[in-house]
Formats: sequence, C-alpha cells, structure tokens
Amino acid sequence: MKRSKKWLSSALVLSTVAGIAFSTMEFGATPQIAEASSLKIQPAESVSLVQLAVPNTKEAMKKIEELGIDLTHRIHVHNGQIEVDAVVTPSEVAMLKLYGITVKETLITENQLNQRAAERRTAVKQEQKLAAAEETVKILRANHFTNQSDTFLYVEAKSSSGAVSSTILTAKWTENGEEKTATLQQIQDAGEYLYHSFMLPVSAIPTDITIESSLGGSATSKVTEWLGEEKPDKPGEHYVKNFVDHYMDPTEIDARIENLVKEYPELAEIVEMPNKTNGYRRQAQATMGTLQNTAVVVTSRDWGHEGGNAISIELKKASAAGAPLSVGTSGSKIIVTLATDAAGNAKSTAKEVVDLLNAEVSDLVSATTYRGNAGNGIVEPAVSSLSDNLKAPASVSRDPFTVKAIRIGKHRDGSKPGVLGYSQEHAREWVTPLVSVETAERLLRNYSHDKETKKLVDNLDIFIVPSMNPDGGHYSFYDFNSQRKNMTNHCSPTQSDNGYRNSWGVDLNRNHDVGSAFDGYVGASTTNCLSGSYAGPSEHSEPESRNLVWLTDENPNIKFAMNIHSYGGYFMWSPGAYTPERETLPRPSAGEEAYYWQASDHILKEIKKHRGTVILPSRTGPIPDVLYSAAGNSADHLWYKKGIYTWNFEVGADLWNKETKRWELVGFQPPFEEGHEEAMEFSNGLLGMIDVAYQYSKDKKAPKSSVTPNGGRHDEKVEISFKTSEPATIYFTLDGSRPTFDSQKLALNGTREGPETLTFEKTTTVNWFSVDASKNVENRYEPGKNKKYNTKTFFIK
Ligand SMILES: [Zn+2]
Repeated sequence: MKRSKKWLSSALVLSTVAGIAFSTMEFGATPQIAEASSLKIQPAESVSLVQLAVPNTKEAMKKIEELGIDLTHRIHVHNGQIEVDAVVTPSEVAMLKLYGITVKETLITENQLNQRAAERRTAVKQEQKLAAAEETVKILRANHFTNQSDTFLYVEAKSSSGAVSSTILTAKWTENGEEKTATLQQIQDAGEYLYHSFMLPVSAIPTDITIESSLGGSATSKVTEWLGEEKPDKPGEHYVKNFVDHYMDPTEIDARIENLVKEYPELAEIVEMPNKTNGYRRQAQATMGTLQNTAVVVTSRDWGHEGGNAISIELKKASAAGAPLSVGTSGSKIIVTLATDAAGNAKSTAKEVVDLLNAEVSDLVSATTYRGNAGNGIVEPAVSSLSDNLKAPASVSRDPFTVKAIRIGKHRDGSKPGVLGYSQEHAREWVTPLVSVETAERLLRNYSHDKETKKLVDNLDIFIVPSMNPDGGHYSFYDFNSQRKNMTNHCSPTQSDNGYRNSWGVDLNRNHDVGSAFDGYVGASTTNCLSGSYAGPSEHSEPESRNLVWLTDENPNIKFAMNIHSYGGYFMWSPGAYTPERETLPRPSAGEEAYYWQASDHILKEIKKHRGTVILPSRTGPIPDVLYSAAGNSADHLWYKKGIYTWNFEVGADLWNKETKRWELVGFQPPFEEGHEEAMEFSNGLLGMIDVAYQYSKDKKAPKSSVTPNGGRHDEKVEISFKTSEPATIYFTLDGSRPTFDSQKLALNGTREGPETLTFEKTTTVNWFSVDASKNVENRYEPGKNKKYNTKTFFIK
C-alpha cells in the first residue's frame, strides 16, 4: 500500500510565515540595548502596538525569536514581505532596526490604550452613580392581546438607572395560580436607553404584573387589553441579550457571576478552582542612582501592601572625612552613611553598599547591583521610597486570587455532556471575558421562556471561566495595558529590577504539557523569562494552568471546549504546535477533522448572524495551517490528553475600510462600542458550540460507510477512497484481520485536504468499520464480540 501525499504549495508559504513567530532555541540573553546610552539605567518603557515589516531572511527571523518580541496573533504576507503585529518598546524598535526589521505602521500607541482605561473608569463611575441614586421603575404599558396564533403578554417598563445594561428588570405574574417570571430586554436606539420590554405567550391573562429591578426598585400595574393596530411584529419571540456595557476587570467579573448564581440557584453554581494565583501583588522596589555602575537596586522582603511600600532608604555622605560605610534603621527608614576618603569625598561603591545592605538589613530588604553590573562606580547621595508600583484601587484584593467558573445546567452531577468556555488566559484581551459573561447571562436569563435555551441548559453541563488570569488581568487594567502573561516573576535577580516589571510573567497558553517548548516544539521560550511567550520554569509550573487541568480531570464529562482569545478573527483547532522540522503533533483522523469542519461551519454561521462578520476561510483550520506554532498551548492539552474537541477563538476580526480598501485591525482593547459588538457576535459563536454539544448528546444514529470503486477484479493497481454518511473515523486492516479500535485510522491526505486514499498493487482485503464523534459504531459492530464489520477484497492480476 502506498499513501498518497499531495502537499499544497500554499502550506509551504504558511510554514514560512509561521517560522518567524517563535522559537525554542536556547537564548538566555536579555534584550540589551546596543548604544552607548546603555550606561544609564533603563526605566520601564512604554510600548506601542506596531506592524513590523520583516525581511524574509533567516537572520531577521532569528533576531525576533532571540529578542523575545511580543507578537500578537495577527500575521500575514504582503508584497513578499512578512508583516506581523507586535507589542514593542522604543529600545526594541532600535534593536530590530539593526537587523533590517522596521516599523511599517504604528497601529496603537500606549496613550491611546490608556484612553481605553480612562473611558472604562468613566463608565464604572457612571454606573456607581446610577446604582447609588434611588431607583424608580415605571411601567409604561402592560397589555395582553390575542391574535390568530395565541394570547400574548407585552410589557414595557423604564428604570431610572436603565442606561446601565447590568440593570436587570424581572417581571412577575401569576398564570392559573402558577407564579411566572421573565427577564426584560433592554431596548436602545442609537446608544440611548429607551425602556425594557418583553413579550411572551400566556395560557391565562394575568390581572396584574410586577416589575422588580436588580437595583431595588419595583412597580406594579394592571394588565389591560391592547386595542391599537400596531401589533408588535414577531409574536412569541423574546430572547434577551446585551448584558455587558463596559470592560470589566476580573474583580467585577467575579461579582457578576456570583450574583448570577444567587439569582439562579437552581440552574447555576460557582466552582472554585483549587490553585490560587500568586496574587495581584509585588514587593516594593527602588533603583537608586542614574548610571549602571553606580546604581543600587533595593527590593523589600515583604509585599508592598504588607509593609514594603512604607520602606524608604537614604544614601548620605558621612559628614566627617575618613568615615567608614555604615547603615542604621529608624522604623522602616534605612539610612546608609557612605564612606569618605581623607579629603571628605564619598568613596563607597555600589557593590559595597549592596553587600552592606544584604549583611545588615536583610530582614527589611535585599539588594543587587544593576543587571549584573560589577558595581564599582561611586554611589551618589539619594533618597528613595520603595514602591510596588501597583495602581489598582484598594477594592482589588492583593491576596492570592481564587479563579472561579460558573457551572450552568439543570443537572450538574456529571450525567450530562460537559462543555467548557474559558477566556483571558492572556490578560490584555479585554473583550474575551465579556464573551463569557454575556453567554452565561443569556443561558440563565432566557431559560424560563426560550425553548432553545431551556433545551441546552436541561441537557448539558456548561462550565464557563471568564478570567483564567485574574492577576495579569488586573495588571492590564490598572498598570500596563499590554500585559499578556500572568504576574509571577521567575527571573534571576539580575533581571528583577523594577525597570523589567512589565516583562515578567508566564504565558499561560504556553505552560502546558503537550507539544511544549520543553519537548522541543516551536513557539515559546524556556529560557528568556522576559519573552512575550515565556513558557515558565517547567510544564504546568503555574497555578492558573493547573486549574484548567484540574477542572477537566474533575469533570470527565467535558467533551467540548473553547479557548477564547483576541484579536484577528481566527477559528482554530489542534494540532497547535510543530517541531523546528515542521513536524506537527499528530493530526486528527480524517473523520475527526471532518467533524471539526462541520461543527465549525455551524459556529461560524452563528457568529455571522450578529452583524455579518465572516471569519475568513484562511483563518479557519488547524492552528499551524492558519497562524503559527504555539508550543504548550492549553487547547492541545485538552485534545491530546483528554480527548476534548477544542477550538480556539481569536475574537475581533479585521474590519474592512471601504475608503482605503484595506483590512484594519481592531486591537486588544478596541473602543467599547466595537468591543461590545465582538462580545455579542462571539457569544453567538460560543452558544453555537454549546449547540454542537447538544446535537452530539442527541446523536444516536450510527454512521454508514462505503468504498469506491467496489471490490472485485481490477487491472494493475487500484486507488480506493472511503465515503461516510456523516463525519466519522474509519478503522481498517489490510491483512485480513478483524479491525479494532487499535487498528489504523484513515488519515488526512495533507494539510487542508480531505481523507487519504489507499492504493493496492496486489490482491488485498480491506476490513473496516466507522465511528462518529458521539461514538456510535457502524452496524453496531463490537470488536471481539461479533463480525459486523465491512469487508471488500480487491483482486489484482
Ligand atoms: Zn491570546
């Protein structure tokens, strides 16, 4: 038998593009600035999001890898040049220029990013103001009417705090003695709040109705008959959505899902993950001095908020000549008296001061010279207060954070197929938790009256984790917009001065154990702790990634998952990584791949429904075919270790600019108006996947399969192909033995191609059976128990 391999030529182009992305090469080097100004100490730099033009040379690509450049998920080839979006500092730009890598276009500056944070603060304030004011609820109309199909209840109500979409109005009434409730949909026009409303069929007309608001207001009204001619146009349709109205930090997100559970105790619960994060907290630091050889880096023993921030340090010259170097403390103030020479000049070096601090006040601080410098310059007098540099308000806890999932389902005992959606592995992807929260709200708030929603909640066990990376998330909201990783610093003391504080952390989507950088796969760094895709000190070193493992270990009923990222508008699945020789992790079988495509079609259609967003075919498919290798990503763990069908969303598809005739990026933190649209459309998509899981749970029909041409006599050789009635994996043997689940599976022919064909050059018997995604076996064949497999013999002269 000979397997045909017809690689598409476009696959080669794609792998070339992918090649620049990441590296497993052993670069331990810290990015160093090549100019003479490097003698000065480096403050934490600002960053911008730029499009880099990268010449297609090995040297340029290697440099990107070596510098640990923080690439986004958006990459493409334009006029033979590779263009990739990256988050870079001015010194990185200077460094890249030396290798012919230039900034083609600055897409978003840090100033613009900070504007997003300011907008969000305004929205939060407005919300607090509205919530604090005494709320009133007015019922504008409460009508019943009967048309040719049914009797309906229609209500419009207005809340004085209604401009905030988290204001939830609930209607309560009685039908034939039975208490009924429904959530009202907020109605806006051109961004302006009009009222809330709902319309539902009723079995009996209630005499009155009460509207209660989540903010405490309420109102009751008689229900009267609707006489007018302007009947609402679509009787029976009442689906509520649109529950997110500003970017939410992980603390707000937590409160949101906790409240949902309080409201729907029958349908939802909180799952607390066992591995707490290290916390949104840091030690307090100061770098004293302005030159590298005179600088002294001081770090508190305690966390900043637990005393570190109170420490100050003064370096002062002894008043007498010939005085020795000494140190003393007064409360949390450290006073270093610098030694003087016979002429009364200060003479203590940075190294001497560092050694003294470590010897005498190690209960308060530790000290180092600057980034491994010998520290032989003479220290200048200075005063400095230590700071953890954290700017979040006190309402954001500095303690280790418990990551939470909201679990939704009528039966949450593991008896129903499980579905998992998780977001914000990457801290700066602010839209992604909104997708998760919106989805949870839609499932719960539509349950009582929307049949489709009820069907999903009654038959599935749905887990949603809005923020996998709350520490990094808080840091992104309050300190550094472009934070991608978690906040844990695994760097050595020479890379731990506060100038590096925006570069520490582990990429949680590179810290897993399948196809990892530790196994030699491409797309993460194991050695550069400052790299944008640092994989951590070891596989699963981080509590955040262990939480995902725990959740899926604990709930083996989970069969589908969505790993939600931004931006670029991609929809991808395993394999997610390849080796430097471009050998990918094993491809799914032909049947599994067909199932991925079939389900994707459904999910992408749901996304399109919101505002017509089309996820491009070139951005749909296995990760290495459409993006790049991502060693140790979480989706590969779920697919290869747990057998969970797992997709990766990159929300935020490019927008077409009609005037410039170019696709424009949306970025990690688009203006909220755009972020909101992305949350709505990808919530559609997540619900689409939940629907796929429902179809899976109901699929009891076994697949059927056939081969062409048929068996019998053939001249010379024969090439056969299989057909299945639905996406299904084919297990086959060619030696006459009975096929089993350990037999060979029909594979894909090549990248983005269909199933392989088999070519026989001598007489061969092929025995096979097929199995669909729901594990229904063709013809109820049971290996070892019966003989109901398919068989065909091809006789060749
Ligand atoms: Zn991401």
